[in-house]
Amino acid sequence: MYSGCRREPDQEEARRGERREAERKRRGTSPGGTTSSVFSQQQQDRMRYQAREVDVEGRVRLVMESALTARDRVGVQDFVLLENYNSEAAFIENLRRRFKENLIYTYIGSVLVSVNPYKDLEIYSKPQMERYRGVSFYEISPHIYAVSDNTYRAMRTERKDQCILISGESGAGKTEASKKILLYYAVTCPTNHHMAALGDHLLQANHVLEAFGNAKTLRNDNSSRFGKYMDVQFDFRGAPVGGHILNYLLEKSRVVHQNHGERNFHIFYQLLDGGDEELLNTLDLERNPQNYQYLVKGNCPRVSSISDKNNWKVVMKALTVIGFTEEEVQKLLNIIAGVLNLGNTQFGEGEEGETCITTETEISNLAKLFGVEGSALGEALTHKKLTAKGEEMVTPLSFEQAMSARDALAKAVYGRTFSWLVEKINKSLALKDEIYHSSQPSSLIGLLDIYGFEVLLQNSFEQFCINYCNEKLQQLFIELTLRSEQEEYETEGIEWETVQYFDNKIICDLIEEKHKGIISILDEECLRPGETGDVSFLEKLEDTLGGHPHFVTHKLANGKTRRIMSREEFRLLHYAGEVNYNVNGFVEKNNDSLNRNLKEVMCQSENHILSHCFRREEVMDQKRPEMAATQFKNSLMKLMDILRSKEPSYVRCIKPNDGKQSGRFDEVLVRHQVKYLGLMENLRVRRAGFAYRRRFEAFLQRYKPLCPETWPNWNGRLVDGVSTLVNHLGYKPEEYKLGRSKIFIRFPKTLFTTEDALEAK
Ligand code: ADP
Ligand code: MG
Repeated sequence: MYSGCRREPDQEEARRGERREAERKRRGTSPGGTTSSVFSQQQQDRMRYQAREVDVEGRVRLVMESALTARDRVGVQDFVLLENYNSEAAFIENLRRRFKENLIYTYIGSVLVSVNPYKDLEIYSKPQMERYRGVSFYEISPHIYAVSDNTYRAMRTERKDQCILISGESGAGKTEASKKILLYYAVTCPTNHHMAALGDHLLQANHVLEAFGNAKTLRNDNSSRFGKYMDVQFDFRGAPVGGHILNYLLEKSRVVHQNHGERNFHIFYQLLDGGDEELLNTLDLERNPQNYQYLVKGNCPRVSSISDKNNWKVVMKALTVIGFTEEEVQKLLNIIAGVLNLGNTQFGEGEEGETCITTETEISNLAKLFGVEGSALGEALTHKKLTAKGEEMVTPLSFEQAMSARDALAKAVYGRTFSWLVEKINKSLALKDEIYHSSQPSSLIGLLDIYGFEVLLQNSFEQFCINYCNEKLQQLFIELTLRSEQEEYETEGIEWETVQYFDNKIICDLIEEKHKGIISILDEECLRPGETGDVSFLEKLEDTLGGHPHFVTHKLANGKTRRIMSREEFRLLHYAGEVNYNVNGFVEKNNDSLNRNLKEVMCQSENHILSHCFRREEVMDQKRPEMAATQFKNSLMKLMDILRSKEPSYVRCIKPNDGKQSGRFDEVLVRHQVKYLGLMENLRVRRAGFAYRRRFEAFLQRYKPLCPETWPNWNGRLVDGVSTLVNHLGYKPEEYKLGRSKIFIRFPKTLFTTEDALEAK
């Protein structure tokens, strides 16, 4: 896999800078060219005490920045080359040094670690793309384009489906990374005359998905509130010809509630800001977002980094490019406007104490937008229909029940419309028949952009699902990384040495096992007739899972835990660390139910999007649909199968600070992420065998000047040439192994010594 260690251009630059500095010191001039400085010598020294050096035992000490060599200053471009790879401090220091030099990418073997720069770097242009085309992974500085290109070439040459898994916490740069990969393919791949614009289509689809699925949060102004897996299909000539998107767990609760400083999904604000007067009139909307209950909760109608007006234009154009008809766009906007109006529906008390709607006029407008009958909608928002022993009963809702029925309807309408959008986009990206039926082989590259491990002050059902997803991805990662390491050793004829690692299967089982797992117990609780609730769910968990090494509650902990737990929490010891989950709302969120009469009304809608989303069969079906967590579990199982059938590459994104600021590297925050992303484990698995591997010809080519017998040319077998070379260099037998086509070097030090020898020549 390794094929070179050419110095990065940035490294060359750093070295030149160092020489200039040395020259200045000799002449006693300051960088500005004057001989005296406004700072005292002491101050100047203190300013240089910026870098940290980490010794082999992981001890950290401050050193003068100027005392570092150029290589030290920009760090290593692959973590496997770190001397003390077990030290987290050394890992973070390497990230920090690189980040300071605007080198935001670093490898761990074939995994790309990326730190969000929060500023535009001039590294994504078309000439940059050209630099990475057809070039081996390690011959050039680490980059997202290198991953894009290598994945593409592996797909082409090995004819095997690939996938790129992008993870990291909110705001770390996952979505930007996935867009850069798509852009790379759109620009550099050949085009197919049937689907000339597919690359562009995929990018346009992204605009639409972001408008409906992204929102401003405290962590990210453009935060994706859903997980996304996107397949890009290539034809036999390597042209992108088809695409398919799977979406996961849209955060529907945002439609009805936003935390302070956050917004609802972008599309609402885009419509209000960008729609012209006539459109707003027909949709019965006022321009000011503050007039809508569903938009005021976060008290944040505007975001300085976002132009809703411009984005509105972009989204409308994208819808047309993707192939939405004018009528479909109209119906879609009716729904968006309908949701806003629904949020303004108020309830009061009627003459006989019954709950009634106090905003009658609005209800008829709302009904028009949803394409349903006003009186039926009003009735369904205030009453509940039950079937008991074959008999239908209608009971009035209390004030609170009516409010939550209204919100449930808003969430269901928005969530299902989002799924419809994805379905529709998929149709437009689908392979055209003539390509689909052609006998020419084709392959796929899948892109996964999904929420990373999440630990908030209060963790609820959503974090539980997200973190469960990350456990599954970690399991897959271990399985696939170890598999590929093993395969490489086997093909190279090198003896496999067992790697010690933590297998997180035990935690996955704890969550997903049939009958005994947390999800099963939650489902059972939701199905139980009579009084059900979060507290009795927690009690069941304690009864069933008490004693499990990765499960703790207040009662079970018996004062033995370090952190205080409330009585409403359970704690899971995830592979990446401990998380406390508050059980409040688990049962309701898992139920995710909508009263049957509301479904009945919606399935009769004249708006074909809504009648498509609310199927008659669903209303007729007496069987309970799958609960939210089980649905998520099943979709994850499918996702794992999809990913398992492909060759994976990984991009791990890190957020350098919580303030969305450029240039600030918050070590505490980064350390958390290094932990939650499992990067140290990553590095350990990678380093368990050999730190470095390189094809014979590349190794010879680079180091042949160091040995008179291989210089200027070696005419024998490659393996003999490498053998002669390393013998001459004095490599000890335990330091390396020769495979069939590659040399495997165990310690980075060996390689550095060789590099230094080359440098000295
Ligand atoms: P995530 O999807 O992980 O939540 P995003 O990809 O949306 O995060 O990134 C959040 C913000 O960070 C972006 O809107 C952008 O401003 C900035 N950003 C992310 N990656 C880069 C990058 N490579 N270069 C410049 N800015 C970036
Ligand atoms: Mg995102």
